Amino acid sequence: MRKLLSAIAAATATFVVTVAAVAVVPQTAEAATATYRLTYLTLPNGSKVPLRWNGCQTAITWKVNLAGVPSTLRPTVLSETKTVVGQLAAYTGFTFSYKGTTTEVPQVGSMPRQTAELVIAYSSPSKTTYNLYGSTLGQGGLFGGWVSRTVSGRTTYTAAATRGFVVLDSPQMLSQTRGGFGTGLRRTNLLSHELGHAIGLEHVYNTAEQMNPVLTSVAPKGLASGDRAGLTRIGKGAGCINTAYMLKDLS
Ligand SMILES: [Zn+2]
Repeated sequence: MRKLLSAIAAATATFVVTVAAVAVVPQTAEAATATYRLTYLTLPNGSKVPLRWNGCQTAITWKVNLAGVPSTLRPTVLSETKTVVGQLAAYTGFTFSYKGTTTEVPQVGSMPRQTAELVIAYSSPSKTTYNLYGSTLGQGGLFGGWVSRTVSGRTTYTAAATRGFVVLDSPQMLSQTRGGFGTGLRRTNLLSHELGHAIGLEHVYNTAEQMNPVLTSVAPKGLASGDRAGLTRIGKGAGCINTAYMLKDLS
């Protein structure tokens, strides 16, 4: 966790802004039977709020790193990736703006320095500090923070997600999953799962949902009804968030 402090003195009242940032990489620790779970941020006053993106952001910019995919397969994987991001746009109501390819590979702590709000990297375990060891096919997460505003002794909190990432073990993905769209062991299902984390979904232990922590032969085609219900709750319809004092909107 990283903390930044700043203070602004207003003319008629003491106005203090406190900013904190937190990176969230979902873990597999907790059991759940729900059809979806959101990623929660605990505020200093003890309340827990869903960590979600600003519903009024012009766009969530994104870039893709295809270095881990053989060059002949890159057009196919790029096309699949654009389709999956397009589905995410439909389910959340957010606009996603593609900004091309990148050589960036997400690392622990690197999200604030990303050149797009969302970086999707088809990479390999040796190139990232995120845990892609063993059977782990990918990691996804998001970065956000909170701002507290204290006016005349009354403190209110605003929290938002401002960056996200997906990093995939491409060699393992290519050997264990198929291309295209459908049920089961598909790389598009893996990407849908990790992008779910980047938007704010946590795991549910339910093989009918794509947010099940293990990709199985009975995985649904893309994001399933519970996954989509979760995305609706934290999507554009959840409303605007004032992201002043947080990481810059790159759109
Ligand atoms: Zn996961």
